[in-house]
Formats: sequence, structure tokens, C-alpha cells
Amino acid sequence: MAIWNLGSINIDHVYRLNHLPRPGETLAATTYSVGLGGKGANQSIAAARAGAATLHLGGMSGADNWVVDRLTSYGVQTHLLQRHADQVTGHAIILLDSTGENSIVIHPGANRQLDSGTLAKALSGLGKGDTLLLQNETSHQVEAARTARERGARVIYSAAPFDLQAVHEILPYVSVLAMNAGEAEQLFKAMPGDIPVDGLLITRGAEGAEYRDMETGQVTRQSAFAVEPVDTTGAGDTFAGYFAAGLDRGDTVATALELASAAAALKVTRPGAGDAIPSYDEVQAFLH
Ligand code: ATP
Repeated sequence: MAIWNLGSINIDHVYRLNHLPRPGETLAATTYSVGLGGKGANQSIAAARAGAATLHLGGMSGADNWVVDRLTSYGVQTHLLQRHADQVTGHAIILLDSTGENSIVIHPGANRQLDSGTLAKALSGLGKGDTLLLQNETSHQVEAARTARERGARVIYSAAPFDLQAVHEILPYVSVLAMNAGEAEQLFKAMPGDIPVDGLLITRGAEGAEYRDMETGQVTRQSAFAVEPVDTTGAGDTFAGYFAAGLDRGDTVATALELASAAAALKVTRPGAGDAIPSYDEVQAFLH
């Protein structure tokens, strides 16, 4: 089947500096690089590189054609993107000092300006057995999730960036809720009872990940692979995209977790976000 991802696209502008600027200070960067990021784009790239038929539904400007070319080069289908003549593509200004400390400014731009009618039309081909991926960086997630569940699709929602109100609104339509340890802690504090979803995916950085089947209570654990981390940006998205592709392919939860963990481990050994997500063949080579 296919993975449909209503997700953000961000252009990451990364500046390295000797120290982070103080208020009023002007500094020259020592290096500058541009990369593709945004939780949505990262998850689409991960799902496509894992081998799933993947359609991305986010919004972006009418310019920045390189972003579309880049997504396409990773196997993501981009014909359902909303291109806005009067909006900028979402972007992040990332300042890194010599110790790895960062300051980040995000401008959501076109990510939060999706047109509801266009989205409904784009989702018209989504059907039973498909998967809808969602995160919390666009608009209209709840209506997309409702539509997907009505059509018999699986909905995987990453509760990031965490927003309790957003989780409450979307939860009735979520099949799998994906969170990192910090997000899970916030949710369990606010909702101490059972979470009404089919499954909970919790990633715990270098401590691995677990999937809890909420119907049977069975917990499947996966340890992280030992690697020398270089840049953990996008590790959670790599995990989510690979895990979704595994379920879509019909893998067992254990197999999907193992592949996702290996893919995320490889990602943390490389600098960058979307562009650093490994291919299926690279993940297989790492595992064998
Ligand atoms: P990010 O926000 O950086 O994308 P996250 O906070 O959403 O990440 P994490 O739980 O930190 O997600 O990491 C996701 C997965 O990536 C982990 O479950 C693990 O499989 C892998 N991972 C993360 N950090 C490491 C590491 N240092 N070594 C090996 N694997 C890692």
C-alpha cells in the first residue's frame, strides 16, 4: 500500500560561529550550509528510502524547486505538494557554536498555510490499508486524520513538537502514537490512564525504543545500535519513517523496530537532517 505524509518542509540554514551572538552583537559565521529538513520532509524521505511508496502532502513556496527535486531524488512523490506563490517555504536558521550548542529560529511559512479544500482533494486517493503520517508542524492534521480513519487507513502521529491540546484533539483518530521519551513523560503526566490508541511507539535516544500494543499490552523492545554520534537531528523522524514503512510492508513489529533502529543509528553518524537519512540497502549492509 502507500504512505501519505501531511508534513512540514523546512529549509535548514546552518551557520557555524565561534560563539552564539549576544543581544546586539553582529558576528561573521565561519561556515554556512543549506539542507533539507522539517519533521515532515524527514519522515517522507525515511519512508521512501525504506522502500515504501510515499506521497508528501505539505505546503511550500512556488520557488525553491530544488526542494522538490531533492525529495524526488530520494523517491518521494511530490505531485500532491501545495505550492504557494505568496508564501515562503518553512525554514530554520540554525546557529551552532564550537561546542555544538545551538540557537534555532523557525519560521513555519507555507507549512501552516495549507488550503483545506486542496488537501481534501489530495487525500481523495487515500484508501483502506494505506498509512497517513502526521506530525505537529502543519495545519489541518485533525481533519486529515479523521478522513484517513473513515477510509480504513492507519494513522501514525508523531506528537512533536509536543502540544497537549493538539494531542487531545487528534487522539480519537490515531492508530499509532509516536513520541520520544520527553514527550511521553509529558503526556503520561497529563493523561495518567490508558491512551486510547492501537499502539504506542516510544523512542529513547541511545537507550533504544519500544512499541506497546495497547490491546494486548504486549511490549516489544529494541535496543539502540552502538555508534559514535555526530548529529542526532532527525533521528526520531528516521525511526518513524522506517517504522511506518515496515508496518506498511507487513513486517512484524519486531522487524520494523530493528530496521528503524539501524536506520536511525546510521543517521546519527552523519551530519544533517533529511539528506543524511540512509537508504534501505545501507541499512541492510549495516545490519549484516
Ligand atoms: P530528534 O529530535 O533528534 O530527531 P528524537 O528525540 O525524536 O530525535 P530519539 O529518541 O532521541 O528521538 O532518537 C530516536 C531513535 O534514534 C532512538 O530510538 C535510537 O534508535 C536512535 N538513536 C538516537 N540517538 C542515538 C545514539 N546516540 N546512538 C544510537 N542510536 C540513536
